[in-house]
Amino acid sequence: MFVRLRQSGVKAVLDVLHQILDQELESASDQTFALLLETSCQLLEQFRQDPWSAEGYEMLKRLSPRQASTLFDAMMRGTFPDGNPDDESLTEPAIILLAGLMSASGAHANALGFLDALIARQDRQSLRYARWFAQCRAIGCSDRISDYWPTMPDVTGSPDELAAALKDEPLDIGTRRAFVRALAEKRIALGALDELSIGLSLPVDEHAKMGLAQDLAVLASFLLAQGDNTLLAKQRLHWGLAAYPAVAKEAADYFDATVQVGKLPFLDEATASRIRSFFLVSAGYAATVAVPTGRQLSPYPTKNGKPHVDTVWLEITNFCNQKCGFCPDPFREEARNWLPLDQVKGLIDDLAENVSVGSMQLNAYGEPLLHPHIGEILQYIKDRKLPWPTFFTTHGLTLVEKKLKQLSNNYPNGIAVSLHNDSQESYAATRSAKIGDYETLVSRVTDLLRQMVSEQASSHLRLYQMVCNGYEAKEVDAKVRQAFPDSPERMLKHIRSWERIAADIVLKLPAEVRAEAIVNSEARIETAFRVKLHDERNYVPILRWKAKSGELHEAFISTRPVGTYANLLLEYDPRWKVKREVVNKYTCGFTKTPSLAIFASGRLGVCCLDLNSTATFGSLSDFANLKEALTSPAAMRMFAELANGVATNRGCQICLASGSQLCNVG
Ligand code: SF4
Ligand code: SF4
Repeated sequence: MFVRLRQSGVKAVLDVLHQILDQELESASDQTFALLLETSCQLLEQFRQDPWSAEGYEMLKRLSPRQASTLFDAMMRGTFPDGNPDDESLTEPAIILLAGLMSASGAHANALGFLDALIARQDRQSLRYARWFAQCRAIGCSDRISDYWPTMPDVTGSPDELAAALKDEPLDIGTRRAFVRALAEKRIALGALDELSIGLSLPVDEHAKMGLAQDLAVLASFLLAQGDNTLLAKQRLHWGLAAYPAVAKEAADYFDATVQVGKLPFLDEATASRIRSFFLVSAGYAATVAVPTGRQLSPYPTKNGKPHVDTVWLEITNFCNQKCGFCPDPFREEARNWLPLDQVKGLIDDLAENVSVGSMQLNAYGEPLLHPHIGEILQYIKDRKLPWPTFFTTHGLTLVEKKLKQLSNNYPNGIAVSLHNDSQESYAATRSAKIGDYETLVSRVTDLLRQMVSEQASSHLRLYQMVCNGYEAKEVDAKVRQAFPDSPERMLKHIRSWERIAADIVLKLPAEVRAEAIVNSEARIETAFRVKLHDERNYVPILRWKAKSGELHEAFISTRPVGTYANLLLEYDPRWKVKREVVNKYTCGFTKTPSLAIFASGRLGVCCLDLNSTATFGSLSDFANLKEALTSPAAMRMFAELANGVATNRGCQICLASGSQLCNVG
């Protein structure tokens, strides 16, 4: 019977308590007995369902020391009838309950010692929370965060009411503070932290945020004292603090002043030191205060001492002579431009010297092969032996003889072609007749592929293929959608045609070139057709060759449902209504691994999707170099906003619009 109790089944506890109390509390009134029994069962059940149960802890607080002591004895005797306690066999809810009963009975040192020993063996957050509760009881302080807020809020209300008010007034810091508090008081810690970091990132005067900084100091103290380290890992909060160092410093100063006067008595010195360090590191980003050594000053990721960007989009030109029916480029409002050769070289030098780069694309929107010096740019990149790979995407009809000569033995690490069409009908429905037709497109892409294989290029060729497979964005014009392969059979026919092209190329290659044309199974082609989201790993190879370097390279077809890329068309199209909000549910994925767009306009942004470079934090001319640009206060503010779903510019408002995150990167 007692062994069953170790597994903390409520029924077992009830049975055991019933028997023990029956024997030992013969003189107790039925009412007392019933209350104890009911309380013990409810407590155990509460902690079984939720180890952080607010109701469970409240019930513990309502027990008298005598009641708690009686319950504790009963539980111990029921659990260990042989009188040999073995705390290793206790389950989590039983530990929490026993520690809580010890505290409630006044045996504070025992409760803390019991939990310390268990945490040392098994460091669970729920046990650290139980310890914090025991600590509060030991020193007789309140465990309610509402007793510690710095000032009374001007605004009050339930979380739902405050959330509704913020819909109308998203920039109102007072309402947001009240919302943060309401969530924290309901122990919705993650929600409170997110709302707080949104508040920190809003485009309002930083003096308005000082109260929020004080709330943060209290919330941080509670969370860390309770053993919850979420705050320290919240990148969006860290961005918010780094963007507004004076606010972070206010949080640090308020925290210090509050701790010093003993207003946060549950904090031990080690936890207080971690919190102080967190604020100072954020505030110290701008080097306004001394920061603890050995810590990264900025949330901006660095590699080898340089700010790291995952992808650089170097838009060497924003000219494009295609008119794709799925691309917003025709809605471009900015002047068409190309960056002069010297400037492109200078930017490449700047990147090499000052920035750690994951990879580089020579375009955002726009057609890179229209740049008059594309050959020299590629040659320069090759000669510089850059430590990162370079790619570009072309629409394919620019692959004329002159461009093929410029590309000859001068390839980047990969070339992508927006092939997309599978027939003249498909081409005519989605592309410009002024610059060519489907046959010409196939012929020019074939010429490039033949040249790359013959020259044993150390480069791959990716052919992008839109599909209309049920996962495409339905808002895309039906005429455009249906222009792309809309069945596995049609996809199969298309792939087989490219496999034949590949076989023909291989057949006519000089003997010394080692290449192989690939024939795919129908199953693989169907899998590629049914792609839900664009996935670089979901492709169909058509040709494999051995480069001069000895590596194997491939040409392959990459599928993606219509509208999962270059799809901001929908929102730029004046016929398509988009809701624009400053605070959005979605956040920008490019802040998780920051990227950099250098637009042909000279503006600097975070991603390639922002057609009119509105989502930008300055221009090249504003900064001495790209490191300074990336770590500038303006860039920090933009990262803070985007990491928190705050959109102050038109590009991001379009992208993060409620209800549909069409750029699909977050
Ligand atoms: S998708 Fe590319 S090729 Fe087509 S219009 Fe847009 S920028 Fe030009
Ligand atoms: S929110 Fe969208 S448009 Fe704005 S930077 Fe991020 S990905 Fe680009």
